[in-house]
Amino acid sequence: MLHMKNLYHSTRNKQNEAHDYEAVLQGIAADGGLYVWDGLGEHAIDIEAMLSDSYAEMAEKIMRQLLPDFSDEELHRCIRQAYGESFDTQEITPLKKVGNDYFLELFHGPTSAFKDVGLQMLPQLMSCALAKEAGCKVMILTATSGDTGKAALEGFRDVAHTGIIVFYPDQGVSATQQLQMATQEGSNVAVCALKGNFDDAQSQVKAMFADKDLSDGFACDNITFSSANSINIGRLIPQVVYYFYAYIQMIRNREIRPGDAVNFCVPTGNFGNVLAGYYAKLMGLPVRRFIVASNANNVLCDFLTTGVYDRNRPFRKTISPSMDILISSNLERLLYYMGEKDTQKIRGYMEELQQTGSYAVDDSLKQNIQELFYGGCSSDEETRSAIRDVYHAYGYVMDPHTAVGYNVMKEYQKQDPTPCILLSTASPYKFSKEVYRSIFEEELTEEEFAIMEKLAMRTSTEIPRNLFALKDKQKRFYDCIKKEDMPRYITQKTKEIFYD
Ligand SMILES: *Cc1c(COP(=O)(O)O)cnc(C)c1O
Repeated sequence: MLHMKNLYHSTRNKQNEAHDYEAVLQGIAADGGLYVWDGLGEHAIDIEAMLSDSYAEMAEKIMRQLLPDFSDEELHRCIRQAYGESFDTQEITPLKKVGNDYFLELFHGPTSAFKDVGLQMLPQLMSCALAKEAGCKVMILTATSGDTGKAALEGFRDVAHTGIIVFYPDQGVSATQQLQMATQEGSNVAVCALKGNFDDAQSQVKAMFADKDLSDGFACDNITFSSANSINIGRLIPQVVYYFYAYIQMIRNREIRPGDAVNFCVPTGNFGNVLAGYYAKLMGLPVRRFIVASNANNVLCDFLTTGVYDRNRPFRKTISPSMDILISSNLERLLYYMGEKDTQKIRGYMEELQQTGSYAVDDSLKQNIQELFYGGCSSDEETRSAIRDVYHAYGYVMDPHTAVGYNVMKEYQKQDPTPCILLSTASPYKFSKEVYRSIFEEELTEEEFAIMEKLAMRTSTEIPRNLFALKDKQKRFYDCIKKEDMPRYITQKTKEIFYD
């Protein structure tokens, strides 16, 4: 039966099925698994037919393959709303040549982080999915260590039938990130600091999804709670597009010919970004290898080298904080697709991870993964040197996350001359102080905007307008609560957003 094939199901149990729009609304499957689709890769994308397409036109062709239950018209509308005006370049994700390397700049969205590509689209897909279930509303609850929160707020602001509350660790985000969130505009948003660190915020928000009293209180009004983190297919799928876009730019610029293989190097935390690249490969993109770059939290690098995933190690704070993570959730999807789609096997690994903090994949799975993925890591000192060296050699300013990728790419290139595209995940101006210090070997003590201006002047680069504009914005959110107060806070804000 044709319609059966369109269903997504959990990585941990094929019986737990959902339509794509249901998966978008739920985020995660009820058994804790991630939604996957066995039809992925059955039809290759015709790359040569996209050679003269715009980003939006490519997005339609690619996303249509992955979201079979959304109509062409719906996808067209969602894509127009997501990418129509909110990025500072029509290219959306421009490809820059720096020396002999290629940088795919993913930070031209409204919050200057690559999360915008997914989080401008997810709310559009959700609102479309809500329209299929008459009368439903969704309240997004998100814990953030900085980038996701702001990108999610900006994506969901004023989207019909949705509301969003972001919790961030009090004193745990950068000055710019805090200001980005505290000044958020929109009538359906709330931002709140939480006493404790990011792990506390994250686990407390997770506890809220399991809180029956909270969900029952709003069920009669058809309000459900959901999350905006990167395990949601509505955030993952839009990221597949820029891998094709990069490849097509390489052809247009005559750097490669159609059919030639390329590599991608991806600075990685939760494994969402690089997994989207793997989806692109399954859909026919000629990729030889993915180079996965970690900072000092090198759990993935070790996994790709040894086949053992072991999170039992100290959590390190680095200068690339968006990659400070020890559980890479989206790896579960890779294990599913590369491990013969065996849900029982995945369930076993994830139970082991839960109980002991580690698991070892079997030899054939390890071999499959190693053929396609290479893992490397970069220390803070190496990352600073890369920022400095690339600036002095080419005048190009990298953010610390991109610089982690640059180091690992350079290491890998000693063994493989295939052209490599480095994914650049944030604007250097989100981390001005660290970037300035790396390049000019001088620590500035001025306030954030003065440092941005100094960096701009000395490197002759531009400050993204959204970041500089924060200077004149009104702060709207000052709330700071203890975790025990979270259910009450959520109840109050949900009422304010949906009933007033
Ligand atoms: C989130 C983030 C990453 C990590 O991406 P994943 O999809 O979690 O692997 C890398 N760099 C920046 C700047 C980010 O915000």
